[in-house]
Amino acid sequence: MSRPLFAHIDTAALQHNLSVARSHAGQGRIMAVVKANGYGHGLARVAHALWATDGFAVASLDEAVQLRELGWQKPILLLEGIFSADEITACINHQLTVAIHHFEQIHMLQAARLASPLSVFLKLNSGMNRLGFKPQDYLNALTQLQAIPACGDITLMSHFATADDDYGIADQLQVMQRCFSQLSYPVSIANSAALFRYPAHHGDWARPGIALYGASPFAEMTAQALGLRPVMTLHSQIIGIQMLNTGDALGYGRAWIADRPSRIGVVACGYADGYPRHAPTGTPILVNGQLTRTLGRISMDMLFVDLTELPTAQVGSTVILWGKGLPVEAVAQAAGTISYELLCARAQRVPERDIA
Ligand SMILES: *Cc1c(COP(=O)(O)O)cnc(C)c1O
Repeated sequence: MSRPLFAHIDTAALQHNLSVARSHAGQGRIMAVVKANGYGHGLARVAHALWATDGFAVASLDEAVQLRELGWQKPILLLEGIFSADEITACINHQLTVAIHHFEQIHMLQAARLASPLSVFLKLNSGMNRLGFKPQDYLNALTQLQAIPACGDITLMSHFATADDDYGIADQLQVMQRCFSQLSYPVSIANSAALFRYPAHHGDWARPGIALYGASPFAEMTAQALGLRPVMTLHSQIIGIQMLNTGDALGYGRAWIADRPSRIGVVACGYADGYPRHAPTGTPILVNGQLTRTLGRISMDMLFVDLTELPTAQVGSTVILWGKGLPVEAVAQAAGTISYELLCARAQRVPERDIA
């Protein structure tokens, strides 16, 4: 017998969210970001559901090869490009598109004497200071790329640090426009937050990730308000019940003390499944579709919920950790993190399962 914990992946919701993203992208194409095993949803399942996209973006060659093995023939972008020269042959064989973000990568291409063309996204560091060429180096990098005989299609790329918050994109957008405006190449700049909040700047290739999985990129706006539907629902069950008297302590560290006679449910889900250990007492959770709260410390395989106000809940009652009826953003916020981290953290031991 297996544990009652599983993830349901709603592929119809993925398709729906893709069409919502498309509606913001106008004539622009969509590079669906499926790195980190499709944000924890399962790369193959996500890819099949998003087959109507124009391209996929991943973080590693392995992921790109998996997509090719599924039969995907359209563009695949390696967001960080190649990590060493020995990846170039595979990139050419699989017709991958590589981000180029520092001169070392250009030197690798120069030295490789490519047999057939390799498409590139040339990355500008417009202010995030993570990957990319400084504005003053950008034209030089472009000139060097253009001089490589087998350099294929070129797209201009940058990434926003604050498209989701009050700071906005004006500063970075100005840098991008200054660097890109003289050049006649396609442009790729928008993540989910930029695509939804600044649709006028969707560019030729938008790169939405989180929105496709039905979570909001914004602290201030729900996914529902953006027209998105949750894709991953994490299901489990109550596997034990304890009755506590006032003053009784619960779990590791006696981290919660009953302030009234309490009925406690034990749920089969813990931090080894990807539930955040830092979720404090009071983190929202659904039992039989009703909202209640976690109590005390999260264990490796189990956590506690308050059933005092839910007298009909019993061993075997269904629990939803996040997803349908309980946005993953709400759980993330309670635990001091973001939806991305929770979705990506789903452990391998939590299987995907369909629900009747
Ligand atoms: C992960 C990533 C994205 C997608 O970001 P979301 O906020 O999930 O939409 C886009 N571009 C780059 C470069 C990324 O690394």
